[in-house]
Amino acid sequence: MRQPMVAGNWKMNGSSDSVKELMNGIKAGMGGVNAEVVVCPPFVYIPSVADAIGDSGIKLGAQNMCDQDAGAFTGEVSGPMLKDVGCEYVIIGHSERRAMYGETDEVTAIKYGAVLKNGLKPIFCIGETLEEREQGITEQVVGRQIDAILNSDGVASLANAVLAYEPVWAIGTGKTASPEQAQEVHAFIRNKIAEQDKVIAEGLRILYGGSMNSANAAELRSQPDIDGGLIGGASLKAEDFLVICSAGQG
Ligand code: PEP
Repeated sequence: MRQPMVAGNWKMNGSSDSVKELMNGIKAGMGGVNAEVVVCPPFVYIPSVADAIGDSGIKLGAQNMCDQDAGAFTGEVSGPMLKDVGCEYVIIGHSERRAMYGETDEVTAIKYGAVLKNGLKPIFCIGETLEEREQGITEQVVGRQIDAILNSDGVASLANAVLAYEPVWAIGTGKTASPEQAQEVHAFIRNKIAEQDKVIAEGLRILYGGSMNSANAAELRSQPDIDGGLIGGASLKAEDFLVICSAGQG
């Protein structure tokens, strides 16, 4: 039985005050959640969020990580630093990093390996653009993105990782994949992993991301191969985020 997960990707949003308010709101509603809850603040707020988490059971993640451990890498943040401040998870391969910061399959695979080497757990994002979906090559694209990490770190590495299927056309657009569309790709992903290792595939958590919100979370989360969500916009409001974290399982 896979433990569901709901992770909030706050992206480049927040202030000292708003982060405090958001964490107070989430903590107040943790009693009703039915998922492992993860928050991924901007780097500068990680220490204050770690303090706020206390013994609430909320897990901490980062949105990006350097593949190097230390040294002359201006502006970067390393795995040992993230561990030092209490992170457990790191988002790797988000479509915004792929599209805006030149992160290729090769770069995402190197970062994925660095996250694991540091004893952290990657939340590895994959997903097709609208153009790719319209061309009918969704499975080819998602398959290629997964192959990048399978070829570099092997299927066993997924025992310590989470995948997030995030169709690029659904991220921040208000256009959610239908539960059927999402389930179809999630099943494809699980079957692909199962070709290499059935046990790893069965235990692997695959999150859906892309305009998941308080209104559509229950139906998406009830799909057999959807194990929770990676949430952008709706993770910035405690009330909405908590509805997603508490949404019923089918
Ligand atoms: C994301 O950025 O990972 C995401 C899913 O964003 P949103 O929920 O805003 O579409």
